[in-house]
Amino acid sequence: MPEPWAILGTVVQAPVFGTISLVQQTTVIVEDGIITHMETAADGANLLVEQGLQASSVLRLQDGEFLCPGFIDLHVHAPQYSYAGTATDRPLMEWLGAYAFPREKAHADAEAARAEYTRLAARLAAHGTTTALLFGTMHRQACQELALTFQQRGLRAFIGKVCMDRHSAEGYQETTQEALAETEAFLQWIEELGDERIQAAITPRFVPTCTPELLAGLGQLAAKYDSAVQSHISESFDEVEFSQALHPEVDGRDIELFERAGLLRNRAVMAHGTCLTSAELRRLAETGTAIAHCPLSNFFFGDRLLPVRDVLALGVKVGLGTDVAGGLDWTEAFWLATQGGAAALGLGNVCGTLEVGKSFDALRVDTQNSAAFDVFAADTPLDAFQKFVNLGDDRNISTVWVRGQEISKTP
Ligand SMILES: [Zn+2]
Repeated sequence: MPEPWAILGTVVQAPVFGTISLVQQTTVIVEDGIITHMETAADGANLLVEQGLQASSVLRLQDGEFLCPGFIDLHVHAPQYSYAGTATDRPLMEWLGAYAFPREKAHADAEAARAEYTRLAARLAAHGTTTALLFGTMHRQACQELALTFQQRGLRAFIGKVCMDRHSAEGYQETTQEALAETEAFLQWIEELGDERIQAAITPRFVPTCTPELLAGLGQLAAKYDSAVQSHISESFDEVEFSQALHPEVDGRDIELFERAGLLRNRAVMAHGTCLTSAELRRLAETGTAIAHCPLSNFFFGDRLLPVRDVLALGVKVGLGTDVAGGLDWTEAFWLATQGGAAALGLGNVCGTLEVGKSFDALRVDTQNSAAFDVFAADTPLDAFQKFVNLGDDRNISTVWVRGQEISKTP
């Protein structure tokens, strides 16, 4: 068992939506990746002596440095990383045909996928992401490579083999039976991998590409394997219109089709949801289903914004699915990116905050000599951390840990 070690400095976290806890001079002791002690004292000497820790196993943060929980990203399309920052010029349904499907189809080549995914894992880790919920592609082999690259980097990840049995692209579509058999094979492969940090998520892409038979079969697999689930729900006007044309019997309401299939459940995370009604949002809350709030893609594709405070007030679990964009106070955004995301994935007792008994999934944040912003003499420690949340980037994140293991360094 690895020796215990300690970190001493200012801890910042958001245990409750909209409030920040900043505690200076905190000593955190980590043993086998788990936080075993946390104590605040002018010098942590007593606790360190009590626990038999030598000076060499104590990391002391400087002024302007902070320890905070790692970020949890609830919506990442792994095969889209290679063209992130481009291709934002078309509405959703056109965009899928023009960019997303052709690029995903190319991941039939698992080796090429592996090369891209290795860079994605490194990039996410460098930006302070410690847990990610990922869409892969339709291909089981490439999804296995995705799981292995994230495991190698040490990230916590939920991996989804994407399912589509209609309205996809030439050469990039499965039969219902293939989609179910490949999903079950992937679930079994992940189980055999036997790493608590790497889990599977059952992944119907969205209603337009999945028949009710496929959704029902995936719902049965979710129950059989007690698996996480992810999809997209009522995300834009054109998507809702497409669902309406396909399913006039439920007036095109995605939620009705997911619910009939048994796909609304704890650890189910639905992306966007900008076109859901209040009654539908209440249904998500009742079933334990979470929303991945994606402010940037909602801005490009969503036709509407998600009223996050109202959604939370209805009791729906919400986490962040992309970078922090406008419309939220920084304290709320920080909570969504940490504790909100953990609760959505059923990891509320594992990560999301730094407390005794939880995994040490954390970031060392440096706000001094920042290339991204300036901290002035009059700034309080809370001001400096707020500047990091609003203006900072990977240059401010010096170390990233998952289960006490440094994942930000190149292996
Ligand atoms: Zn998406």
